[in-house]
Amino acid sequence: MALMAGIIYALTSLFLGLCAGLSAPRNHPANEVTLLDSRSVQGDLAWVASPTEGGWEEVSIMDEKNIPIRTYQVCNVMEPNQNNWLRTHWIRRGPAQRIYIEIKFTLRDCNSLPGVIGTCKETFNLYYLESDSDNERYAHESHFAKIDTVAADESFTQVDIGDRIMKLNTEVRDVGVQSHTGFYLAFQDVGACIALVSVHVFYKKCPLAVRNLAQFPDTVTGADTSSLVEVRGSCVNHSEEQEIPKMYCGADGEWLVPIGNCLCNPGYEERNEQCQVCKVGYYRSLSSDGGCRKCPLHSYSMKEGATSCDCDKGYYRSETDPAAMPCTRPPSAPHNLISNVNETSVLLEWSAPLSSGGRGDLAYNVVCKQCVRDTQRCMPCGDDVRYSPQRLSLRSTRVSVHQLQAHTNYTFQIWAVNGVSKHSPSLEQAVSVTLTTNQAAPSTVMMVQSKDIIRDTLSLFWDEPDKPNGVILEYEVKYYEKDQNERSYRIVKTTSRSADIKDLTPLTSYVFHVRARTAAGYGEFSAPFEFSTNTVAAPVVGGVMSSAVLLLLVAGCVVVLLLILIITFIITKRRSKYSKTKQAEEKNLQPGVRIYVDPFTYEDPNQAIREFAKEINTSCIKIEKVIGIGEFGEVCSGRLKLPGKREICVAIKTLKAGFTEQQRLDFLSEASVIGQFDHPNIIHLEGVVTKCKPVMIITEYMENSSLDMFLRKNDGRFTVIQLVGILRGMASGMKYLSDMSYVHRDLAARNILVNSNLVCKVSDFGMSRVLEDEPEGAYTTRGGKIPIRWTAPEAITYRKFTSASDVWSYGIVMWEVMSYGERPYWDMSNQDVIKAIEEGYRLPPPMECPLALHQLMLECWMRERADRPKFSQIVNMLDKLIRNPATLKRTAGDASRPHPSTLRHAPSEGSAPSLGSVDEWLKIIGLEQYGENFSTAGFCSLESVLPMSHEDLAKMGISCSAHQRKILSSVQELLSGMHHRQDTKVPV
Ligand code: AMP
Repeated sequence: MALMAGIIYALTSLFLGLCAGLSAPRNHPANEVTLLDSRSVQGDLAWVASPTEGGWEEVSIMDEKNIPIRTYQVCNVMEPNQNNWLRTHWIRRGPAQRIYIEIKFTLRDCNSLPGVIGTCKETFNLYYLESDSDNERYAHESHFAKIDTVAADESFTQVDIGDRIMKLNTEVRDVGVQSHTGFYLAFQDVGACIALVSVHVFYKKCPLAVRNLAQFPDTVTGADTSSLVEVRGSCVNHSEEQEIPKMYCGADGEWLVPIGNCLCNPGYEERNEQCQVCKVGYYRSLSSDGGCRKCPLHSYSMKEGATSCDCDKGYYRSETDPAAMPCTRPPSAPHNLISNVNETSVLLEWSAPLSSGGRGDLAYNVVCKQCVRDTQRCMPCGDDVRYSPQRLSLRSTRVSVHQLQAHTNYTFQIWAVNGVSKHSPSLEQAVSVTLTTNQAAPSTVMMVQSKDIIRDTLSLFWDEPDKPNGVILEYEVKYYEKDQNERSYRIVKTTSRSADIKDLTPLTSYVFHVRARTAAGYGEFSAPFEFSTNTVAAPVVGGVMSSAVLLLLVAGCVVVLLLILIITFIITKRRSKYSKTKQAEEKNLQPGVRIYVDPFTYEDPNQAIREFAKEINTSCIKIEKVIGIGEFGEVCSGRLKLPGKREICVAIKTLKAGFTEQQRLDFLSEASVIGQFDHPNIIHLEGVVTKCKPVMIITEYMENSSLDMFLRKNDGRFTVIQLVGILRGMASGMKYLSDMSYVHRDLAARNILVNSNLVCKVSDFGMSRVLEDEPEGAYTTRGGKIPIRWTAPEAITYRKFTSASDVWSYGIVMWEVMSYGERPYWDMSNQDVIKAIEEGYRLPPPMECPLALHQLMLECWMRERADRPKFSQIVNMLDKLIRNPATLKRTAGDASRPHPSTLRHAPSEGSAPSLGSVDEWLKIIGLEQYGENFSTAGFCSLESVLPMSHEDLAKMGISCSAHQRKILSSVQELLSGMHHRQDTKVPV
């Protein structure tokens, strides 16, 4: 007993020391829920011990901080068969399904105790009993189930006590408790020396957790050590489920394998596992976006939690713009709109707008309006107008518009558009141009039909072309036998939409094409249409026919048929020849001829200026340098940039200060004249400035200035063909003027301007200069100044200025051109010139001038103005020469261009070489058709024609008096030429 008491003492005192290492009730991990903690109990534990005496004993000890803790001790090591029970009070299970029992205890090493062998144990047993209530009656030891036998990992000896070494054991056991609401635990001692220092009973839970914005509640672990409890999470505030959030609660109270997630609602962002509201000035538009973002450029948010930002005033967002994109604006208008009219098509080109509005979806729309001339009335263009590549949503900065109506005013607007244009459509986004389409040939005849087919006649009819593009002047039907070569066609012309095609071969297939013509020329031929003629109807004589008569008839028919075929063949040949030459002529057809209006016939000449000349704003003009002096002031070169047009070089004629109203009108009259013309060989008027000073006339710029100077500068540098090209251009311009009934009166190389492409343009249309300002002008007996050397005799003598007198002047210009700017008649006085012309003398061919050209000059200088060629004929003749350069080879050698001092003048009008034949001579004077008449009449050499008279010619069958005159005057020249050669000097 004394040993026992000693041991107990030792244990007790030991605990004082041992427990110094124990802290007061500790904080348990978050995943443990305590059901019982012996150390946290205030006062006695009052567990039930059995036997009540000599078994387990409750002992209070102090821990290191002097806080009392309860322990149970037993140490009956000396006596055998110990069975000491200690039972806890009833413990409520709560939600627990498996409980954990953590026991801290000390145990005395049996070896360290003398005389206890056989009775001393080093283990104790742990039991439990489930029950629904604290009913001690039923808590009998035999009802308890064993959890485990608990052995100490560490035991201690007397020496340890002396050294105050603590050997505290901690053992944890667990057991499933599911059937009742509570349980008891029991500790069975079978003879060990033990102190239960603390008993901590708990269950485990997975504590509340937030994963992927889903909240998972406190979850008690499952009953098995391996069981996983599946838990569904719920989205945190201001978030929404993206994928069902789930997690597993493991038996150890740890969460495992989070699945699914939630996302913060728009206007909120994830921060610290919560959804926090976006601040003012920030936004979050989609739950899938990252965090809140600052409002993009040109936008703002006034409240917290914005899902998008509002655009600043004047800025917009299209439906498809993402919220992160800055707010944008409609683009500014395109600029530099340039139009290029080609008949009934227009090419529009422009530059991109200066501001795209901050977007990348810039496109262009074209608006086409057809406008009534001189009014503001416009209506949208019809559906038949074609746009290439398209009308709307154009990405490129050009579009060509086709199938417009000819000679019609159109306004085109080019709109720059982007994704936000519809929010603020304003005219500032468009640029427009107004233009007039040109004349155009009619469109193709689409359908040709036939009616009334009889054996040799077909009646055709057709519809007017879809786009006549003007008044249809006539139709042309081209046809040929299907089996024949297409080139042997025939042509029939008609002004109606039908034609009877006669003289066809019966029983034959024909191919027909029809085309229409307006003033602008022919349209395309239609597609081929094929029709066949019928058989010949057999005549019936008295009902019965003898075989002999029948035979005769058949033979007769065959003969007639053969005859028809032969005649048709001949006619076809002739017609095809006719039609080809005719066609060639038709090709030269000019657009509808207008008549020139004299501005001085206007009561108010200002009205004529307004009508024929466009007023130009001075801001469009840039004057660069002075290039000449005109009658009214300086002539400058400069640049003109009209809205919607390319910048071009221009000549600017100015009216010097201090002018009278009459001078102003005289000056501007030139613009009223040029403004009426539109031809590549007539100087082109760009417009006038009349509303501010200086008053100006703006024309196209001709880089090489006046033709006379240009030729002098380039003496001998051009080929004959180039010179003829120059002449041809001038003739074409003059033809245009004469077609308009305009008489120039001062045609001279000095009044022709040359551009950088060597294109010559007739200029100098001032009204007063013919009378006053012409440098070459000389007063005639009838008053008024006239450029004598260039003027036809009838104009000098009785002021008969006509297109025929212009033809005379043209002949002089030809001479100027071929002599590279030589002065006509050199230094002869005006009076001498008048006299020489009167006596029949004409300028000789310039050096190396082709005879054919000199011949043309001579024709221009025919005394009788009716005998002079028309400008249209001159154009044709020059064209022929250009086409057959060989005809330009023959020159008059260097017999011409005498030095002025020698005063040698070659005779004119048929200055034919004495060496030539009659045929050559006739060819030179352009009457080669009479070659046969001469040879038949026996005139074989030039000498033989010299004594000819009117009667001789009439007898030879040359009855046209103009031709007779031409031949006889050429004969005269031949005669004088012979004298000239004999005398070498012929006085004027
Ligand atoms: P004008 O008053 O028409 O005789 O012009 C006087 C001079 O200015 C001419 O001789 C030319 O040298 C020059 N000039 C006139 N118009 C033009 C033009 N369109 N282009 C180039 N130079 C011109």
